[in-house]
Amino acid sequence: MKNFRPAVPGAVDWIVRKLEDAGHETWAVGGAVRDSLAGRASGDWDLTTHARPGDVQKIFRRTVPLGIDHGTVGVLARDGTMYEVTTFRRDVETDGRHAVIAFAETVTEDLARRDFTINAIAYHPLREELLDPYGGRSDLDAGVLRTVGSPSERFAEDYLRVLRAFRFAGRFGLSIHAETWQAAQAASGHLRDLSSERVREELLKVLDVDPRPSIALSLYSTSGAIAALYPELESLRVDRVSAWEATLASLDALPVGRPYLRLAALLRDVDAQAGIQLLSRLRLSNSQTEESALRATAEPLPPPGADGHQIRLWLAATGPQRLTAVARLDLARAKALGPTACATVVAAWRRAKAERRSGVPLSVGELAINGRTLIHKGMKPGPEFGQILGVLLQRVLERPELNTVEALTGLVDDLVGREQR
Ligand code: ATP
Ligand code: MG
Repeated sequence: MKNFRPAVPGAVDWIVRKLEDAGHETWAVGGAVRDSLAGRASGDWDLTTHARPGDVQKIFRRTVPLGIDHGTVGVLARDGTMYEVTTFRRDVETDGRHAVIAFAETVTEDLARRDFTINAIAYHPLREELLDPYGGRSDLDAGVLRTVGSPSERFAEDYLRVLRAFRFAGRFGLSIHAETWQAAQAASGHLRDLSSERVREELLKVLDVDPRPSIALSLYSTSGAIAALYPELESLRVDRVSAWEATLASLDALPVGRPYLRLAALLRDVDAQAGIQLLSRLRLSNSQTEESALRATAEPLPPPGADGHQIRLWLAATGPQRLTAVARLDLARAKALGPTACATVVAAWRRAKAERRSGVPLSVGELAINGRTLIHKGMKPGPEFGQILGVLLQRVLERPELNTVEALTGLVDDLVGREQR
């Protein structure tokens, strides 16, 4: 096809040429072709080839076996980039969750197993030829997302495609073709059968990459996918519509490239237990789960007029290292309410930052005395040490100038003495 000269990296030309010289037809395919056609900066250039993985490993010196069973070999090019080279494939058997594949002979077979017309376009960089058997280019021009072939069949092969449809529609502002949309809605009940890893990765991609995650998530919600996968969010959406809308708006107000910050924003209005339940179903790492939960459940910043004590209490409870994240969440929330609300958050943030920078103690570890001091005073180590230090911290949060050895040992004497009386 004419008029399409994408800026293909030199390394891609080089890989294609080497494979073709060895007798293996090779095409660029997928996201990069789609994005170049749409005039967007293209991400990863993936290649699809007649060569079998063993051939690819022989033809190139530096390769990584990324997924040999699925036909994928990483080729490390001179530009330092790793390109995925995957053998032509066709599906032999599908069950809605995973596919048994076989290697295929032609690029046409390979394109037939791809999910959406806009993702089923191949480009041959040496011949400058576009192969677009399903009209992906005109769908792209018209802003339409539709499956390759029968939507209900294609979703039944792999239900993850339902979520992928929402992601692509949201990311590129496409409208989902009527039949594809109906089939997606009808398929939502099957989403629960997908592995939590695949579901999680889909959600994280929406949160990571979409300039406006609210679009994809609204499709998740109207299709029934939220109800199927995230019932904790469904109750928010149904019972507290304005909170759900504020949540979506705050996602859009947060930057791309911060998927976990946006994840915390998604859970900010869900009660703590439900949030943790949702996070554990996503099977993030323990630390990722914990951090997301702490950010999601953090109290909003104290108002700019709050006194130092209130701010220190907040910093100690939230964890001073979380100040920036929580402030960004608050600010994203305030954006929907207007400039005054934003200015208030910014002022509160400044105030909390200044308090934090002043070096006042905010945790037991920063107190002028510790467990050893208590042992020196002849006390027996035990659980009450923690309690005593906790009480001291509360006093110091109230009056930071009490954080001296003398003042704190005096307080300990008072406390212990009071107990003994
Ligand atoms: P992104 O920019 O998000 O990476 P992409 O189109 O490159 O977008 P990938 O998930 O990287 O998406 O997949 C690459 C290509 O593989 C897709 O364009 C599509 O042709 C095909 N593909 C990926 N997942 C599926 C699937 N579940 N079913 C059918 N085809 C798929
Ligand atoms: Mg990709």
